[in-house]
Amino acid sequence: MEQPTATVQPSLLHAHFDHSVDGQYVLDPEADVFIKVNPALCELLGFTREQLVEAQRPVSTLSIVHEEDRELVRAQRAGAQNAGDSGVMRFRAVRSDGEVRHLEVRFSLISHMGRILQVGSARDVSEQVKLEHKLRTESDFNRELTLAAQRAAKDAQRKSLEVLEANTRVGALAEVLRAIPVLTKKLLELEQINDVFKETALTMVNDAQFSSCTILLKNEFDELEIKYANPFRMTQKLRPDDNPMYQSVLRGVTPLAVDQTGTHVAPIRAGGSVRGLLQVGLPKNLQRFFATHKPIQESIKDLLITIADFLGVVIENHENLERIKQQSRTDRLTGLYNRRVFDEQLVVEFRRALRYDRDLSLMILDIDNFKKINDTWLHEQGDEVLRAVSGLLKVSFRDLDTVCRYGGEEMVVIMPETVGDAARAKGEQIRRKISEIEIPLLQNPEQKISVTVSIGIACMNKATVMEDQLLRAADRALYYCKHNGKNQVKLADELDDA
Ligand code: GH3
Ligand code: MG
Ligand code: MG
Repeated sequence: MEQPTATVQPSLLHAHFDHSVDGQYVLDPEADVFIKVNPALCELLGFTREQLVEAQRPVSTLSIVHEEDRELVRAQRAGAQNAGDSGVMRFRAVRSDGEVRHLEVRFSLISHMGRILQVGSARDVSEQVKLEHKLRTESDFNRELTLAAQRAAKDAQRKSLEVLEANTRVGALAEVLRAIPVLTKKLLELEQINDVFKETALTMVNDAQFSSCTILLKNEFDELEIKYANPFRMTQKLRPDDNPMYQSVLRGVTPLAVDQTGTHVAPIRAGGSVRGLLQVGLPKNLQRFFATHKPIQESIKDLLITIADFLGVVIENHENLERIKQQSRTDRLTGLYNRRVFDEQLVVEFRRALRYDRDLSLMILDIDNFKKINDTWLHEQGDEVLRAVSGLLKVSFRDLDTVCRYGGEEMVVIMPETVGDAARAKGEQIRRKISEIEIPLLQNPEQKISVTVSIGIACMNKATVMEDQLLRAADRALYYCKHNGKNQVKLADELDDA
């Protein structure tokens, strides 16, 4: 059965229009007024049908649009003017109570009795917009969050690299520093100064990881002499002028010189002057940090100055020790070895001669009538005589012999590998040479005085088993000379009681 559509449909359409949950409307774009609205639209906009349609002066449709969106709506209307045109738009509407709602409007244009009308439905999309906005800000936030996280990760990576690098640096520096107390302790224990240089050069390279270490000291001609080089270097002498770095450090212009390759030169100071140089190549494990890290540069500098200063102190100590040793072995007035050295050396030489059956003689000299010189010309004149005689003795014997001041005006000479006639000949030679010395008078240097000596000599023979025997025999020979006119040489073997 066929449905009478022409009669049913209009009433259905009215019902649909009136009961639709969406706001439905027909408006005249040109007059800017609603022609028909459903209750849902009135509800949506907060206006009564009376206000929107039936009033003498109904509310203009554009006035309901939020003023910031009006231009948008006008443009939409301008763009759709012919029947059949349609569109979708979103805009904000201001309800009669002032509340702003987001509307989505779908519309199309129809031609009705010669006029173009707009029919459409409006829906409140405020919640959706709010949600969308929220989502948008959240995604922005998330994006921001991601970027920030990436930045933080990169930062952390960079920081951890920095920490790693710093650790490597500190580790390398610590290695250098660890070697120093070991070095200084070793140096203080070494007796030979050359061992000090060697140990320093070895420790600086092997333990402290410097790439090279050379110790140079000035010699008596002001040339720089390599005392030790690690790695070994052939050149043994360098003139300071050969190297501007050496020059400036030696002159004290710079407390420490560094060249582009990282070679450091520090002055070694001892006894108030620059005596030499400590030259090192950069530690291998610090080379890549050196150029860019000032604290490392400073640490290395401080370290080298400290070590160079320490070397200076060690050198000074050694020199002082040598001086004290020398002083404790020599007689102040004459510069000859003293009694202590004589006692030690006599034992050494006697035992050697005894064990290897070698020759050995002991000579005792005593200045004749020395007391008279003191009495006649003052004690100082006596000292001058002692110096003159000692000076001659010093240059008259072999290195092998030991010339000592035994006490007062008595000297003793230990003569290894000499006996008999040779010893007597030596004694005679000395006696004659001493008698020929002209000693100026202190009071009147034009006037000279001279002295003679008596010399007793004892030679080792089969009967000598103690060094005291030698000493006593020589003394007896001397005593003989003194009682037989002085100014003579006597061998103990020739004495009657020998
Ligand atoms: P003889 O010929 O018998 O050896 O007589 P002598 O005068 O040389 O010997 P004596 O032992 O009587 O006198 C030695 C003097 O030497 C006594 C002492 O005052 C003096 N004398 C000792 N040591 C020194 C010294 O360092 N300087 C000076 N000027 N005199 C000294
Ligand atoms: Mg005497
Ligand atoms: Mg005398």
